Amino acid sequence: MVTSTLLLSSTSSHLLLSNPNNNTNPSLRSNSFSPLSLKLTRKSPKSLTVVAAAKKAVAVLKGTSSVEGVVTLTQEDGGPTTVNVCITGLTPGPHGFHLHEYGDTTNGCISTGAHFNPNNMTHGAPEDEIRHAGDLGNIVANADGVAEATIVDSQIPLSGPNAVIGRALVVHELEDDLGKGGHELSLTTGNAGGRLACGVVGLTPVSITRALEASLVGRFVELGSNYAGTLAIHGT
Ligand SMILES: [Zn+2]
Repeated sequence: MVTSTLLLSSTSSHLLLSNPNNNTNPSLRSNSFSPLSLKLTRKSPKSLTVVAAAKKAVAVLKGTSSVEGVVTLTQEDGGPTTVNVCITGLTPGPHGFHLHEYGDTTNGCISTGAHFNPNNMTHGAPEDEIRHAGDLGNIVANADGVAEATIVDSQIPLSGPNAVIGRALVVHELEDDLGKGGHELSLTTGNAGGRLACGVVGLTPVSITRALEASLVGRFVELGSNYAGTLAIHGT
């Protein structure tokens, strides 16, 4: 599900408002967002554009075995990232699942490097304060070897200095002990074993879903009686 934040540049609202005839806010023209806009016709002749800032990325995981999957990441501007995981071909049970530092698969999943760790921490659980940013814990495969999960995490943004675009997601052979297993590898890898499959995180278009559309219309209503008339949604 894609949701979105609206940016309007009006000072009379908690939103930022942009007048397309006098667009002086560079953030609204930035290529870093997939623009979705609502054209609002004011009762006065001025028309206003509402831009939604959402980002979406995808990683297609493959390896040397039959393990494969697709992971999507979505983020509203400044909010946490929602990670939707579907991986097949696993042995039933928990498997470590991490965001690794490099989007380099020239030597298979090994060349994706270590867990993404911009804050120079030791390995931990996603809910721990001391953790690698890339520590997403375990995903659990069912009896058919399918792991489906939704992870919401604040340390793997899709933009900004710690953006994970261009890095890689890796699913491991074994359970991640979350730094608490007492093994010599617990505080670096969670002793999660080999790398079964990996995929580079890349940007993908944000599509307008019903949920997003409902959110946009909701915000339109919030603007109140100053705006009326036509409502059109332009998106990718
Ligand atoms: Zn880690």
